[in-house]
Amino acid sequence: GIGKYDPENIFAKILRGEIPCKKVFENDYVLAFHDIAPKAPVHVLVIPKGPYVSFADFTQRASDKEIVGFNKAVGDVARMFRLDEPGYRMIGNVGQDSGQEVPHFHVHILGGRPLGPMLA
Ligand code: 5GP
Repeated sequence: GIGKYDPENIFAKILRGEIPCKKVFENDYVLAFHDIAPKAPVHVLVIPKGPYVSFADFTQRASDKEIVGFNKAVGDVARMFRLDEPGYRMIGNVGQDSGQEVPHFHVHILGGRPLGPMLA
């Protein structure tokens, strides 16, 4: 299972400003930035600012404001990159079987080209 939050994970360092990111959006609850190894013309990561490892951790411990703010930010980022009409994909890897690499809950927004079947 997933252990307790590791404050030395790479997204925690980005949130603290210890390593840079290409920021696309920020508010009190959320930071969105370009993935360092983009898999599509648009590949943005949206992360809550709080220390949540998994989706369950986020939904159980975050406030309603954080949860609403996170969801709105995902929609805002998609709109910001004009992805609503062509479409896009949201992916959240959670835990070992998903291959989640960074133990800070995040959602990927991928778009800008036809993405093909999800489980290719
Ligand atoms: P996961 O597999 O955990 O869902 O995805 C982690 C994502 O974070 C990967 O797509 C990876 O390219 C991205 N990533 C890892 N390290 C960094 C970094 O230092 N900066 C940015 N912007 N993205 C990163």
